[in-house]
This record gives sequence, structure tokens and C-alpha cells, in this order.
Amino acid sequence: MWRRVASLSPMISSSSRSLSLNQAASGLKVGESFATEIINPDERVLASKEKAPFITFVLGGPGSGKGTQCEKIVETFGLTHLSAGDLLRREISLNTKNGAMILNLIKDGKIVPSEVTVKLIQKELESSDSCKFLIDGFPRTEENRVAFERIIGADPNVVLFFDCPEEEMVKRVLNRNQGRVDDNITTMKKRLKIFEALNRPVIEYYKNKGKLYTINAVGTVDDIFQQVLPIFTPFEQLKQSRHVNSKSPLGSNLVEN
Ligand code: UDP
Ligand code: MG
Repeated sequence: MWRRVASLSPMISSSSRSLSLNQAASGLKVGESFATEIINPDERVLASKEKAPFITFVLGGPGSGKGTQCEKIVETFGLTHLSAGDLLRREISLNTKNGAMILNLIKDGKIVPSEVTVKLIQKELESSDSCKFLIDGFPRTEENRVAFERIIGADPNVVLFFDCPEEEMVKRVLNRNQGRVDDNITTMKKRLKIFEALNRPVIEYYKNKGKLYTINAVGTVDDIFQQVLPIFTPFEQLKQSRHVNSKSPLGSNLVEN
């Protein structure tokens, strides 16, 4: 079980302020509920858990190999994989009340309102028996990041960034044939623009916090995984135990009960 340990409010209020400036500067609309989101502190999922989870965010542009490397990480280290994009696509296929709205945003390469995405992640975290998660393709924006901190009440322990040149990402996305509505050149161009404008600041944020691990995402799957391995090796004990030790080098916000 988990316990919430981090006090996040001062950081959240200052980053919320800079957020609207970022959005205005980028000129990109992220979603209808973007500026009006109000989150009830009682909704914080981990407040009720005894112990903080071990969280890895997996960032990188479209086609940078996030999902592929997540599969390898899961195989090797047994983390639980949550793909934000897959959770959103599941809403579309289940035709839920947000399904149509999500489909329209994804088709246009836009970002789904944070509250919708965070709630889906929250449901998965709450219902899972695991204590260690790979959250893939999230947070996409500073506003996503802040919403996660506020609702979930946790900070990532590790942030992976798969750094890949645009030409390579375009090539991969156009060749992957997964039948996705957004894997076409028109949407891809929009996704790349949104990545640069909105996801880059998140990457910078975690770089400044000393949590970012940048991986050169060009090469074979195995070459790339060789760079990922040493990041998780210090957490090898995760494989054996569901609980994370507070003494691990990157796990300083974790407390063993
Ligand atoms: N998306 C979003 N919020 C997220 C994750 C994904 O709005 O937190 C939407 C966004 O429109 C994005 C699309 O889902 O372009 C596909 O995301 P995914 O991570 O599946 O794509 P990938 O980067 O892996 O190609
Ligand atoms: Mg993906």
C-alpha cells in the first residue's frame, strides 16, 4: 500500500501561473476545459494509499519509440505499463461519453483535457495492485503535469525522454500501419508542432529537477534498450518486491512503511 509523502502545493501554484503564459505564447489550444479545471483535493487518489508508488514518466515525440521501449522495460523490470494514448483510444472504442470528443482531438493532433486523461490514469492506478508504473506519453503539457500532481498527489521518480530527429519519427509513424487515425502526414505535422510547443517545457522542467534521462532514440530496439537498462538497474530490487526502498538514489520521496 502507498502513502502520500510529498507536499506539492507551493510548486503547483507557481507553475499554474506560468502555465497560462506558456499556452498564450504557444498559441495552441489544448482542450475545452483547459483553463477552467478545478480539482477537488478529495479526489487525490494516493492520499488514501499508505505508500507512494514508484512512477516513471515516458516522454518523447510521436514515433520516438516510447511504447516499444516500455514493452522491454516491462519484460525486464516488471513495471506496470499505462499508455495514456491507449487509455484514450479505449474510451473511443467503448464509445464512452468523452469518446467522440477524444476522437476529434486525437484526429487533429490536439491534447485531450487534462482532467479526462488524469482521471483515466487515476482509475488504473487505483485499481492496480502494482506499486511501480510506467506512464507512457504523459504528461504532454505543463498543464497535464500540474493536474497529475494535484489529482494524484505524486511526483515521478524517473522521467525518460526518447530523443529522436523529426525525419525519423515521421518515417516510423507513416510506416507503422497500426490503423491509427492520427498516423498520417497531416496530423503528424500537427503532433510534432504540439510536441515542440507543449511537451518541450515539461522535458525542461524535469531536466531542471534532475529527474530527466535522455536517450538517443535512433538505432535498433536493442541498442536503445542498452541505454535504458542502466537507468533501471539501481531499482533491480523492484523486481523482487512490490515496495520501494526510500534509500534508493532516485527514490527520495518514497517512504517504507
Ligand atoms: N493524447 C493526449 N494526452 C495524453 C496522451 C495522448 O491528448 O496524455 C492524445 C494526443 O492527441 C496524441 C494522441 O493521443 O497525439 C496519441 O498519443 P500516443 O501517446 O498514443 O501517441 P505516440 O506519441 O505514441 O505516437
Ligand atoms: Mg505510443
